[in-house]
Amino acid sequence: MAYEKPLPEPDGDRKPFWDGCKEHKLSFQKCKECDHVRWPPSITCPKCYSQQTEWIQAGGHGKVYSYVVYHQAFHPAFKDDLPYVVAVVELEEGPHILTNIVGCSHDKVKCDMPVEVTWEDVTEECSLPKFQPVNS
Ligand SMILES: [Zn+2]
Repeated sequence: MAYEKPLPEPDGDRKPFWDGCKEHKLSFQKCKECDHVRWPPSITCPKCYSQQTEWIQAGGHGKVYSYVVYHQAFHPAFKDDLPYVVAVVELEEGPHILTNIVGCSHDKVKCDMPVEVTWEDVTEECSLPKFQPVNS
């Protein structure tokens, strides 16, 4: 069955991130001057304005920084997922990324909850990073 939800459009500065996702790797730019790891990608570091950058691979662990539970589908393709969780996850390396929390009931999600990345291979060209509670 065709994937009917919107897909990312990997272009420009974002392409290395989405290319990494295809291989189930979370890749971020790290400033070579001040070590700030940033998201979204950009030409200059938002902390020190250096353009000296390298791509690093994040470990995929973090915590729920903030979240909302969607009870209404604002796109018809999400209707069967209701209720679902849209969250900002703070990765151990620092970046905050917008994602979904999966693998647990929406009413179990809490701020500061430890989570780890899990991959949803939605098309041959696209894998989406989602997060699930760490089983400890
Ligand atoms: Zn910097």
